[in-house]
Amino acid sequence: MTENTKLIQGRTGPWEVVLGLEIHAQVASNAKLFSGAAVGFGAGPNAQVSLVDAAMPGMLPVINRRCVEQAVRTGLGLKAQINLKSTFDRKNYFYPDLPQGYQISQFKEPIVGEGEVLVELDDGETITVRIERLHLEQDAGKSLHDQDPDSTYVDLNRAGTALMEIVSRPDMRSAPEAAAYVKKLRTILVYLGTCDGDMEKGNLRADVNVSVCRPGAYEKFRATGDFSHLGTRCEIKNVNSYRFIQQAIEYEARRQIEILEDGGKIDQETRLFDPGKGETRSMRSKEEAHDYRYFPDPDLLPLELDPAWVKAIEDSLPELPDPKKARLQSQYGLSAYDAGVLVGEQARADFFEAAAKGRDAKLVANWVTNDLAARLTAAGLDIENSPISAGEIADLVKLIEEGVISSKIAKDVFERMWAGEGAPAEIVEKQGLTQVSDTGELEAIIDGLIAGNPAQAESVKEKPQAIGWFVGQVMKATGGKANPGTVNQLLKAKLGL
Ligand code: ADP
Ligand code: MG
Repeated sequence: MTENTKLIQGRTGPWEVVLGLEIHAQVASNAKLFSGAAVGFGAGPNAQVSLVDAAMPGMLPVINRRCVEQAVRTGLGLKAQINLKSTFDRKNYFYPDLPQGYQISQFKEPIVGEGEVLVELDDGETITVRIERLHLEQDAGKSLHDQDPDSTYVDLNRAGTALMEIVSRPDMRSAPEAAAYVKKLRTILVYLGTCDGDMEKGNLRADVNVSVCRPGAYEKFRATGDFSHLGTRCEIKNVNSYRFIQQAIEYEARRQIEILEDGGKIDQETRLFDPGKGETRSMRSKEEAHDYRYFPDPDLLPLELDPAWVKAIEDSLPELPDPKKARLQSQYGLSAYDAGVLVGEQARADFFEAAAKGRDAKLVANWVTNDLAARLTAAGLDIENSPISAGEIADLVKLIEEGVISSKIAKDVFERMWAGEGAPAEIVEKQGLTQVSDTGELEAIIDGLIAGNPAQAESVKEKPQAIGWFVGQVMKATGGKANPGTVNQLLKAKLGL
């Protein structure tokens, strides 16, 4: 157990953090949740607004089947209960970017119930984060305050876009755990094709609920389900990067601990994270909390799903990250770490499998997760746009397997492949990089070295590890092309070891 590392030392003793997340994920679909208006990023202001989205009098919402399907697909991917009957409610509040005066959401009867997400942490430990529910709701529009010094503009392109709100149980206990959870959830959504996961565009964002308690209290909560064992929570709204999620949690936990240690109490409130300052600040307190006056939307009938339709969606699910990881480990003999890195992105796993056909899979995994990944990251490229193809990585590994080039030379060949100098075999040929395994050639070099350095040759007899110096000299003489195995063998024989 790494439990103790999660303790935060305060002035008056240790504290623990408790975290529950509400993720808003924009549903990948061409049209909005209740209108036929297009969904997309970068269109001109108010170019994607139907009369329904603008809430013109008398307009009626019509549910988008595709969005429902995506929510069901997501629920199935989270191993969650699919509710064959769910209902839509109106959540009433006033805001200039919400022309209806209410948001259509699901309150009492969400489309998806309890599920779970397995989250691998950096130290190799895996935690289970329980999902409480997933519901469908509309997004609001956007108020633009930076277009004019005297007025605020409203862009309704986003109004009515379908969101999935995915609510976790308070199962995360540290900032890295929360970030790892969001990362894993995002990976699953992208695999499922139900959300593009683009956090920069705000298509996936997190409301982070933070509380602190003394050691032991959380275990009591888990044993009884009684929330009164936990501290009062604050909710940090709309955090949209892994780094900000962690910074916000760390700041907020410290803030709460300081208040409690000074004898104060935590007000349940909604807070905002300011990335510039690295701080959270109050947005509204519980007293100012909205009374949303939820009630069933009279314009929408309950949503009833055909079990056969749900089954068909289930049958069409792709292989998800967890089973794929297990398969890569067993089928290719990869470590949990390598398999985990590969399945982090579907395209990366596909690339690996294409390159590994008939090749040394561990070698292929190394090239894909290390050298290629580093190059792609530095160039800001996705693996789909890799200038080096899976087939070329396979060819490179083949040259190593067959002893044509050493691993060291392979690095050079790889750099030339990246620079677009051609296929690996071509580069090896053109640059004369073929490994020297020809014992005659190597013997001549070694004989010359021993004759020219008698003192060194003598010292190796007492200190066998000094053989490294000779290996280095042979490599130097051959421009790194000597087969290290052959060199070692020949040196040992000639030096009488
Ligand atoms: P609301 O809809 O008012 O925000 P919910 O009961 O739906 O309230 O809870 C929202 C989130 O807060 C959930 O993710 C839940 O796990 C989390 N949460 C509840 N209590 C705590 C707590 N004491 N500490 C941290 N997170 C909490
Ligand atoms: Mg909330």
